[in-house]
Amino acid sequence: MTIPDTLQILLKDPKSLERKVLILKDVHYFLEDPVVIARLKCLAQLIDNGLDDCNIILLSPIVRIPKELESYMTILTMDYLDQPEIRKVIETFCQEQELPALQPQFLNELSLTLKGLSESEIQNILALSVSDDGDITRSDLSLIFEQKQQVIQKSGILEMIPLKESLADIGGLESLKKWLQRKAKIFKHIDQAEVFGVDVPKGVLIAGMPGCGKSLNAKAAAKLFGVPLLRMDMGRLMGKYVGESEANMRKAIALAEAISPCVLWIDELEKAFAGVGGEGGGADVTTRLFDTFLTWLQEKDSMAFVVATANDIAKMPPELLRKGRFDEIFYVGLPKPIERKKIFEIHIRKRRPSDLGQIDLDKLSAKTEGYSGADIEGVVRDSVEEAFSKDQDKLTTEGILQAIQNTHSLSEIMKESLDKMNKLYQERKFKNASV
Ligand code: ATP
Repeated sequence: MTIPDTLQILLKDPKSLERKVLILKDVHYFLEDPVVIARLKCLAQLIDNGLDDCNIILLSPIVRIPKELESYMTILTMDYLDQPEIRKVIETFCQEQELPALQPQFLNELSLTLKGLSESEIQNILALSVSDDGDITRSDLSLIFEQKQQVIQKSGILEMIPLKESLADIGGLESLKKWLQRKAKIFKHIDQAEVFGVDVPKGVLIAGMPGCGKSLNAKAAAKLFGVPLLRMDMGRLMGKYVGESEANMRKAIALAEAISPCVLWIDELEKAFAGVGGEGGGADVTTRLFDTFLTWLQEKDSMAFVVATANDIAKMPPELLRKGRFDEIFYVGLPKPIERKKIFEIHIRKRRPSDLGQIDLDKLSAKTEGYSGADIEGVVRDSVEEAFSKDQDKLTTEGILQAIQNTHSLSEIMKESLDKMNKLYQERKFKNASV
């Protein structure tokens, strides 16, 4: 019998519900149906009006509350499994499959890798790892990571980013890199650090020019800390039902905390919270979302280290920039001559390591005042392609200089807004990422 029919029958004989618990499974499919909403509301009103000891429980993998039912409902969320529980699931799986018991250290590593997944998701991944050679071994870890990446992706609220970039891929920004290294030490030795009286690192806001290495730092931070990188896409969190956006935000935070230790990267933070405190339905949702995030950030003591990146802080609510929210706020400006030299070196080494020795990096740096890191990467990419298409056997300084001439720098394209941004960052006295 379908849910609408069941509800109708129950409404005809509400007494049959006395001293009963009514459980409706996978109800989210029906919560767009006005008939179901109306019938549920009638039942809720009957309960309010004294139907004896009746409770209705709606089970659903997503939060979808129609406005009409909002005041009758309480949301309960299921906690994620913790590491000992995951270890138990793995051990039980191995026993049931008659596999040899795993080494304690590997079991520990495996349970850490599987954090943030449900029992059935863990069992599916383990079954897949067994299917190739009949055992779960260290060689399955990359498959397990890939599978977990997919499960997280499918949840639609967080994305797991593979770790490629390290601090060595970042030219300049020495002050920010040094700061991250200090936090990494705390993160990796958190027990000793806490005993010593050090606070659990909360996170960092990296604001500034486009294409100057903000995202690069978020990615490199995760590698440096030796933890997974999760990206929160604010656009995806916004839902159309009452409370859906906040519920998604809470779900994303809970997932990040379940997976922790991790780095939670929130890209384009200003876009997420532009309009906070404004008027109208959209602004209300943004403000509630912002409050949920801010409270979490303020009270957070989990090992989910937040790296928020933003281009334009002028659009950001001032509460977010106050001390205590993030451990530090860094400002990333256009690279200085010595930084440009290093960025050229990094990108030439990546593509033409054997040509690096004969390239005049000082000259390239001198000719690229006002270029961003992304501009410089573009120049190197274009000049390598040009050399190849002209059948040249190597990359030359002249070839790169030519590519520079053909490129418009970031400061040429966005002069006015860059000047404005620079002024604002200086006024706010954010820490300069470069020195
Ligand atoms: P946006 O705000 O537009 O997202 P961003 O500051 O996050 O920009 P990144 O994505 O970090 O910029 O940089 C874009 C690309 O430019 C990087 O993938 C990298 O190749 C290159 N790049 C930028 N800055 C640097 C740098 N300091 N060192 C080396 N490469 C850099």
